[in-house]
Amino acid sequence: WWGNVEMGPPDVILGITEAYKKDTSPKKVNLGVGAYRDDNGNPFVLPSVRKAEEILHKKALNHEYAPIGGEASYTDAVAKLAFGENSPVLKNKSNVTVQTLSGTGALRLGLEFITKHYAKNKEIWMPTPTWGNHPQICNTLNLSHKKYRYYDPKTHGFDLKGAIEDISKIPEGSIILLHACAHNPTGVDPKPSDWEQLSHVIKERKLYPFFDMAYQGFATGDVDGDAFAVRHFVKEGHQVTLAQSFAKNMGLYGERAGALTFLCGDEGSAAKVMSQVKIMIRVMYSNPPLYGARLVQEILNTPELKKLWLADVKSMADRIISMRTKLRAGIEGAGNKLPWQHITDQIGMFCYTGLKPDQVERLTKEFHVYLTKDGRISVAGISSKNVDYVAEAMHKVTS
Ligand code: PMP
Repeated sequence: WWGNVEMGPPDVILGITEAYKKDTSPKKVNLGVGAYRDDNGNPFVLPSVRKAEEILHKKALNHEYAPIGGEASYTDAVAKLAFGENSPVLKNKSNVTVQTLSGTGALRLGLEFITKHYAKNKEIWMPTPTWGNHPQICNTLNLSHKKYRYYDPKTHGFDLKGAIEDISKIPEGSIILLHACAHNPTGVDPKPSDWEQLSHVIKERKLYPFFDMAYQGFATGDVDGDAFAVRHFVKEGHQVTLAQSFAKNMGLYGERAGALTFLCGDEGSAAKVMSQVKIMIRVMYSNPPLYGARLVQEILNTPELKKLWLADVKSMADRIISMRTKLRAGIEGAGNKLPWQHITDQIGMFCYTGLKPDQVERLTKEFHVYLTKDGRISVAGISSKNVDYVAEAMHKVTS
């Protein structure tokens, strides 16, 4: 029956983890995986999440189906976290917010909905580079995707001029994908004043903004600060779509807690959009999983737990920032002549080191340090125990 099926290429990131696992060197370091690790290199369950687990356990809830779009206690709370407690677009009920299977599920559902119901120019423009799954989801949906300039390899920073130039030429009515904060894979975000310019040109071109916010809180440690771009666009009158994930900022990777929001302008359009989103969910997976969403809503709706969670997020962001500082100091301290300021300028979980493919290969073959070929490292994989070793290895392959 299946003799005609061709072997598919392995997933790039998971392939790195496989190779890392096979390596028997005690020095090996995995900087490929995009999951937070504590300073001992172990997966981290947030103390606020542990507390929420205990509370849920005591509640001894049943396992009935969730509503198709998820529980309102969850969707209301996550929309407020993204758009702000007093956001007018939530107050006037012009939003459609549904629980999704984490951020990937939100992207897939959102883009599928757009492919089916959006009547204008069905073309989506993405930053160069972007998360590998973005174009792949579009390919699956036969949604044409194109690129606008974003990362400047010369400065290792945001290419504002290039981005504005490219966006100014995007056909009216196209969709534009924006990483809300902590851009993956580069760790390079536009400044607030850059976002203001982007909002302006996107409005002028009559483009439809689709925000992917997989790292709220991870960029600066402040969930409100990290929502600046989304909130600014909304304030400027854009009817955005937003994909949210609680994989990183609550460490709920495998629980698949995410959300998709469409801002619809008014309550009447929202009701129609909601009816169609529900139909789409119903035939795909019927209704979403309960446990992760229960944890998220418990945390966001309990003031003491939320306070604890905000401190947890800050502690993760701070550890990453301190590892950036140590890594840069280690490479520079070894006498390396290249500029390394971008390690501390970039934010969030990832650093786009600028290492070339042959240097990446040496890093892995000679030093047992695993990372993606594009030179991206997950700073969350660096700890006080391995930072000197990684710095020395990076120095050696670049000098
Ligand atoms: N968007 C971006 C940019 C990401 O980096 C990720 C996680 N790697 C996601 C979305 C979604 O992840 P998840 O499905 O685990 O929430």
